[in-house]
Amino acid sequence: MLLELKDVSKSYPTGEGPIQVLSGISLGLPRGACVALTGESGSGKSTLLHLVGGLDRADTGRILFEGRDIAGLGEVGLAAFRRDSVGMIFQQFNLIPSLDVAANLAFQARLAGRHDARWCETLAERLGLAELLRRYPEQLSGGQQQRVAIGRALAARPPLILADEPTGNLDEATGDAVLDLMLSLQAETGAALLMVTHSLRLAARLGSRLHLSAGRLA
Ligand code: ADP
Ligand code: MG
Repeated sequence: MLLELKDVSKSYPTGEGPIQVLSGISLGLPRGACVALTGESGSGKSTLLHLVGGLDRADTGRILFEGRDIAGLGEVGLAAFRRDSVGMIFQQFNLIPSLDVAANLAFQARLAGRHDARWCETLAERLGLAELLRRYPEQLSGGQQQRVAIGRALAARPPLILADEPTGNLDEATGDAVLDLMLSLQAETGAALLMVTHSLRLAARLGSRLHLSAGRLA
């Protein structure tokens, strides 16, 4: 298993006391797997993705990546885990506005010390970005921005890609085209993909589906 969750729970403090968002989540994600995570708005999908990606910490339970519990990592170790092992794609694209497309594409791979100019070039071509490398994010359409974000996530060749409603801000045709590209590159690179979506139509395009409801997986 690339990733294993064992009895993971998470609550958030609020003015009215803590709310329990995830209760006893267990799952396994093999290398190269392609899994959709569905559930109603507020069901904890983003929370689960943030825990797996090391952006937040679980209250209890274990999150094993390549057999090691990420809870045992300090802040420095967790940052290294995010940088080296995980590619994240968000609904809001989250590109760096001051960097052009080429620099955005290479950003994470450079941080990870794994920048590979030829692979970046291949990604740019495959994602239809070769003519846009000197543009800045604000000069791109939503679909173009998300293609840059996909390239950035894949550039360091991480074993795990986490995508949170990656086509949620795109019209249906653009979103379908972006999803096609993401799925074909994921399959080619052998990365595992965990993709949050509330669309059953999109979830059906992935290998399997997990459903979150009332803090539990079904
Ligand atoms: P989803 O992505 O499925 O829509 P989220 O994981 O974003 O759900 O949120 C799950 C629940 O946790 C919601 O009720 C949300 O309001 C709450 N929540 C999320 N983040 C926080 C936070 N930082 N503080 C307090 N409550 C939060
Ligand atoms: Mg969400």
